[in-house]
Amino acid sequence: MINIPKGTKDVLPSQSHKWQFIEDCARSTARVYGLREIRTPVFEHTELFRRGVGETTDVVNKEMYTFEDKGGRSMTLKPEGTAGAARLFIENGLASSPMPVKTFYITPAFRYERPQAGRLREFHQFGIEVFGSASCRTDAEVIFAASAFLKSLKVGTRLELNSIGCKTCRAEYNRALKEYFAPHLSEMCDACRSRYEKNPLRMLDCKEEGCKKFTSGAPAITDYLCGECFAHFEGVKKLLNENAVEFTVNPRIVRGLDYYSRTVFEFVSDQIGAQGTVCGGGRYDGLLEELGANPLPAIGFAAGIERLMLLMENSGCPFPEPEKPRIYIAGMDENTRFEAFKITQELRTKGIYAETDLMERSVKAQFKYADKLGAEYVAVIGQTELSDGAVNVKKMSDGTQSSVKITEIYTYLSKNQ
Ligand code: ATP
Ligand code: MG
Repeated sequence: MINIPKGTKDVLPSQSHKWQFIEDCARSTARVYGLREIRTPVFEHTELFRRGVGETTDVVNKEMYTFEDKGGRSMTLKPEGTAGAARLFIENGLASSPMPVKTFYITPAFRYERPQAGRLREFHQFGIEVFGSASCRTDAEVIFAASAFLKSLKVGTRLELNSIGCKTCRAEYNRALKEYFAPHLSEMCDACRSRYEKNPLRMLDCKEEGCKKFTSGAPAITDYLCGECFAHFEGVKKLLNENAVEFTVNPRIVRGLDYYSRTVFEFVSDQIGAQGTVCGGGRYDGLLEELGANPLPAIGFAAGIERLMLLMENSGCPFPEPEKPRIYIAGMDENTRFEAFKITQELRTKGIYAETDLMERSVKAQFKYADKLGAEYVAVIGQTELSDGAVNVKKMSDGTQSSVKITEIYTYLSKNQ
């Protein structure tokens, strides 16, 4: 027996309706926000993620599924959706379309991590990316979309917001961070020592307990924002307040990817343990230029579908029930099972979810099976029913029966919704 790879999960037929529900909520949110779906390949040139996600990130340093293809090219399974979305935008000349360009995706993502609750090696994200607008209203719109999506799932989360400024304010802030961390450096992890040299901001994102105790006392980026970044952040906060979206400013949020600038945010839950961030996002005004295109502001978020599922299960959020057959058409014997099959087929062509026997079951066993499926009605076709052209349709919930012409079963079901 060959087992499923570590850190991956099957979706079983009894569970797929939960996925579909979350995906439907994602698509409904996307629709009212005018976001159009994009799909990018599961693998890209490794260089895209090196440049797009950033050399100092855990994702690029430790977590990528990188392989050489038979042509000797270095390829990587997508660890996230933004870099691919940006490549799609650039490569297809979307910069010449009317701005902003508003997109969304639902995609698998791959990271070589230590699997635990809410942390997998293959996971799925619903993400949105909006290209071309630097306005704080766009930041607010993206945050509202995330909030509306989470509300439609009925999960409770809190929004944590921060601004990590632009290159100018970050240079000054990084100096302050270096000064603060210098005396503690010998007690911090290797990764943090390397981050200290290359990108001190990243130290705030360290997951090591030994490092976390130092990061909590670090200077806050919000005290170092330049005039423009400060005003932009004020604008975002004002819009959130005016639209009754609750948030707290958390100056420790820097996000795990290098391309972020200004607004960054996370929707967090306390109900799913250590992996509490169900949705993270932010502005990445520098990414397109980093990838060789003309500079263009952009902002987005990605929500982890498995973590949302976990949260919904842990907090007892109701998933809609999977659809049940409206009718089960049973056949009395060998011959009438074929007639039952034909009637079932006809109902299906009219859009009715109908079932019939495929297992040569007795009538009694067919009833039992129909009940297990949760069929709303059952009709038994026997020789008499065939010659009369009429059948007793039994409502399973109360046992009441009605005589219905075989040719009118569809009409009967339509009337009795
Ligand atoms: P974390 O701090 O938990 O590692 P991250 O900053 O690496 O998260 P992002 O790259 O921002 O996460 O991805 C966005 C969302 O995708 C996360 O908020 C989370 O819900 C989900 N996610 C990220 N990594 C995983 C994973 N390995 N397994 C399941 N979901 C994940
Ligand atoms: Mg991570």
